[in-house]
Amino acid sequence: MDADQIRSAFLEYMAEQGHTVIPRAPLIPKDDPTTWRVVDDWPEKVPITEAEIEVFGFGSLCVMVEGRCALSAYATGQSPNTAGMCSPPSAVRWEESAAGVEARLGGVLIDRYAPDEPRGYPTLCKGRFEVGGQRDYAIEEPTSLNTLALLPQLIEAGVSAIKIEGRQRSPSYVAEVTRVWRHAIDAAASGARYSVQPGWNAMLGRWAEGQQQTLGAYDRPWR
Ligand code: SF4
Repeated sequence: MDADQIRSAFLEYMAEQGHTVIPRAPLIPKDDPTTWRVVDDWPEKVPITEAEIEVFGFGSLCVMVEGRCALSAYATGQSPNTAGMCSPPSAVRWEESAAGVEARLGGVLIDRYAPDEPRGYPTLCKGRFEVGGQRDYAIEEPTSLNTLALLPQLIEAGVSAIKIEGRQRSPSYVAEVTRVWRHAIDAAASGARYSVQPGWNAMLGRWAEGQQQTLGAYDRPWR
């Protein structure tokens, strides 16, 4: 069997199990009217498609493309499409030093924290490095997307599922984050007037990367 035959057999099996097979398409097709558009007058209805629509609703933002991450691969030799995760825990080292707690990934110094400073999972993209004499987040600030405020619009637009980041996260994270989202989705779907409870955002803020949350591209014109 060659790769195409394996793929066809896989798709046939999935179709037999009741799944809908959607033809392959580029990630962001040029001028494709079915592309989700983040524009001032959004949400337009998600265009007619046989597929149920899932959108990323909560979790760390990441600059890799489809599992290929040169940053993770550089430091650890592994990236999401080779290890199923970025920056594997086996490559992480935490070390006490006179200057603070140092986080290293594959031996690369990613960050140095003051004793009482919250610490994030060490990834190269969210590391603090010295550039031009200044130490700061050189690539990306640790921030999590949080679309709680958009739930009614997402439901109205036809979204069926919210994707929540969970990989490499603790059981406590999973329990607390999903509890908040369960309450919020039930409230938004009930048809009653919906507003984000301060306690929800406070709880998600505890688990957000860098304790920062954003609406990301939903809140800004696409560039
Ligand atoms: S290192 Fe950063 S950009 Fe690369 S996969 Fe991990 S989170 Fe994403």
